Amino acid sequence: GCQLAAKIAWKLLEGGARALHVVETAVRILEDDPTFDSGYGSVLNAQGEVEMDAIIMDGAALDLGAVIAVQGIANPITLARLVMTDTPHKILAGNGARDFAAHKGIPLLSQAELTAPKARERYEKHKADAALNSSSKGTCGAVALDSYGGIAAATSTGGTPFKMAGRVGDTPLIGSGAYADNQTGGASATGDGEQIMRVVLSKTATDAIGHGMDAQAAADYAIRVMVERVNGIGGIIVVDHNGNIGFAHSSQNIAVAWSSDGTIHGAMQRSS
Ligand code: ASP
Repeated sequence: GCQLAAKIAWKLLEGGARALHVVETAVRILEDDPTFDSGYGSVLNAQGEVEMDAIIMDGAALDLGAVIAVQGIANPITLARLVMTDTPHKILAGNGARDFAAHKGIPLLSQAELTAPKARERYEKHKADAALNSSSKGTCGAVALDSYGGIAAATSTGGTPFKMAGRVGDTPLIGSGAYADNQTGGASATGDGEQIMRVVLSKTATDAIGHGMDAQAAADYAIRVMVERVNGIGGIIVVDHNGNIGFAHSSQNIAVAWSSDGTIHGAMQRSS
């Protein structure tokens, strides 16, 4: 899934597309893939419902759009982008976000239409065994640098399995789930939202670039800060303004794909 998204993203970049459009497209591909915890295939909350968060950020204008606890749409990342471009606000939540989606002509879906069989199965297991760990499993994100020097980042999630209804993680919080600044870089985070937000993980990484680190050093640094300060489990992908790419994680696994020359690379894991 990540490699497919990277391949299409690269093609768009090669054709002169802007980073903002590219990260939205990449995340839409991942949202549509039930492997990932966002859009169709999102994990279910304690009430058995899909409730999603997403953020998109444009590093040229330091502009952003985010949606929080939104239900019944397939692509929260596109709604987040519309919040940025078509409203005077930066963040919309819950029913207001859903009403805005309807207003923009986005099809509204039932809970059943958004629930993948795998997500339902997982929910039933959780219900039967309250001790099951509820760590996250597959938030998706993308970061791109385009040929005009524009950097954008996007992150979309169904959150953590069996979360309380209304729970909001790091993803839609600017600087935590994503950050982009053309002067430094872009970052997108995944993992334990309750810990990620405490160290504002994505901004920690892009600030590190501002202090002279490259993308990989900044990714390693941000994860180290999260582990040392709040014992957080998660991962981050980073692109710096020079086009270097980095990723790091304290979770067991992270699935990533990237390109800087047209060749698509992918990895399921990398020790940080
Ligand atoms: N960070 C997301 C959240 O806490 C979950 C994840 O990354 O899988 O909502």
